Amino acid sequence: MTFSVHGLAVSRGIAIGRAVLVASSRADVAHYFIGADKIEAEIQRVRVARDAVAEEITRVQRELPKDVPHELSALLDVHLMLLADEQLSNGVKHWITDRLYNAEWALTTQFEIIARQFDDMEDEYLRERKADLEQVVERILAFMKGVASPVLPVAQANRQARQQDLLLDDTMDVPLVLVAHDISPADMLQFKQSLFVGFATDVGGRTSHTAIVARSLDIPAVVGARSASQLIEQDDWVIIDGDAGVLIVDPSPIILAEYGFKQRQGELERQRLNRLKHTPSLTLDGQKIELLANIEMPDDTANAVNVGAVGVGLFRSEFLFMGRAGRLPDEQEQYLAYRKAVEGMQGLPVTIRTVDIGSDKPLDKLAGRTQDGQLNPALGLRAIRWSLADPPMFLTQLRAILRAAAHGQVNLLVPMLSHVSEIRQTLSLIDHARAELDNKGIAYGPVQLGAMIEIPAAALTLKLFLKYFDFLSIGTNDLIQYTLAIDRADEAVAHLYDPCHPAVLRLIADTIAECNAQGKGVSVCGEMAGDVAMTRLLLGLGLRSFSMHPSQILAVKQQVLRADAGKLARWAQEVLLSDEPAALL
Ligand code: PEP
Ligand code: MG
Repeated sequence: MTFSVHGLAVSRGIAIGRAVLVASSRADVAHYFIGADKIEAEIQRVRVARDAVAEEITRVQRELPKDVPHELSALLDVHLMLLADEQLSNGVKHWITDRLYNAEWALTTQFEIIARQFDDMEDEYLRERKADLEQVVERILAFMKGVASPVLPVAQANRQARQQDLLLDDTMDVPLVLVAHDISPADMLQFKQSLFVGFATDVGGRTSHTAIVARSLDIPAVVGARSASQLIEQDDWVIIDGDAGVLIVDPSPIILAEYGFKQRQGELERQRLNRLKHTPSLTLDGQKIELLANIEMPDDTANAVNVGAVGVGLFRSEFLFMGRAGRLPDEQEQYLAYRKAVEGMQGLPVTIRTVDIGSDKPLDKLAGRTQDGQLNPALGLRAIRWSLADPPMFLTQLRAILRAAAHGQVNLLVPMLSHVSEIRQTLSLIDHARAELDNKGIAYGPVQLGAMIEIPAAALTLKLFLKYFDFLSIGTNDLIQYTLAIDRADEAVAHLYDPCHPAVLRLIADTIAECNAQGKGVSVCGEMAGDVAMTRLLLGLGLRSFSMHPSQILAVKQQVLRADAGKLARWAQEVLLSDEPAALL
């Protein structure tokens, strides 16, 4: 039966495919397709792990002291029984053989299916056995981790399968959409190389980092769809309408046809926009508008160049630091990554932001949405605060960025500054990093220094910031979050997250005006810069530099080409004075 689930639209377009449910508690499990020649080996990996776990439980049972309660031994019996369950082993075999899932993915998929059956049981005792099954599966996964075969990136594994023309039955050709309760930004990066054509999560706000990475993948996505991962079942057909923020589950043929049509229209629109790739970004009255790219990884520069970005306005360097079980990238690894980005931009400028770990970007994806010991992560030890709390780590990053600057034009951008003492500490550490490189005789290049304006306190003390920095970059995602006291990752208050709130617009307008008056560079690098509904207003407020995901550049360029900046300036002042600016857009 067709039904729909409503959420927040975060990445445009329509995706139609079968659901792949990924449980967030096991999101660190690798998901990739195997080559057909690996089927037997993958089945064997699960078998070996399962037998080893069974052996271990049997040994523990044998060695139990005589006086332990009988229930403990009975519990171990239940675990042994679950391990031997055919529904588990047959299901795993099915996912590996018929879908070419890797062993861990097959196991967790089958677990989800059986777990739901437990949830539906009337008998409370049986219902509670789900926790036992979960423990058993976790043990198998832990065992497999120790003996895991090397992970093939999904795209590569699938390409090999295609080249060899192996096992490409109907099911393999079906597009897949990812459905999960939550996906950490680090997991989203892993999916960057995958075959999913769209995704949906139960939680998350429009500018949560998971949504931002989704936008960079340029696939239709909906977040904050409440209980989507409960309502949608493995393999269900799902339409993801990334424009309307709706999921349509089990669509009827008529609905499918309608969305198929919309999908083709969207494709045509993209092709039309592609023609603007080489058109200079000028307004009707001849103002030159700089369209820059936001990237997460050095390889993203290819996309940026491809759509005609004139530089990188924001390299979110924290993505190099995530999901590494606490082992941070050393100076050489960072230097090579930054240098790759610089070289990838072929002489165009690259703005590297120092690490912004914390809040909804935990270092380790398993840390979840809230970090242990932090009462309120968004207001806690995040971004520059995290860096200043660990000078050796920060100096390592600064040296790496300065060294990369020897290979091209680099701007160094500092996130979340609010206090003059932080500014002074940061600048002194940058000097210190230069001195360290001088002492060792290592080459480095000049950098322009920039500060993010993303805390109201910074936007209200612009003159102070402009005394110390060459340029400013407005991080509207956080500026809105902190001005309106709305957690950007919390879908429960997503309706209050308002880029057009008069207070937000006032802070943005003043920042642009002050920079323009002092002849300093200013850009917007939050999601607002890539929102076509906001382009005219930002132009009217005097903004001439926008940084956004490459996938949005051509649509924003289209707005620029249609705009008259002079006329928009007068209109923008009216919008600023309005009680309800959104009504005037
Ligand atoms: C912002 O806050 O607008 C920004 C660009 O930084 P991030 O989204 O990474 O916090
Ligand atoms: Mg920010």
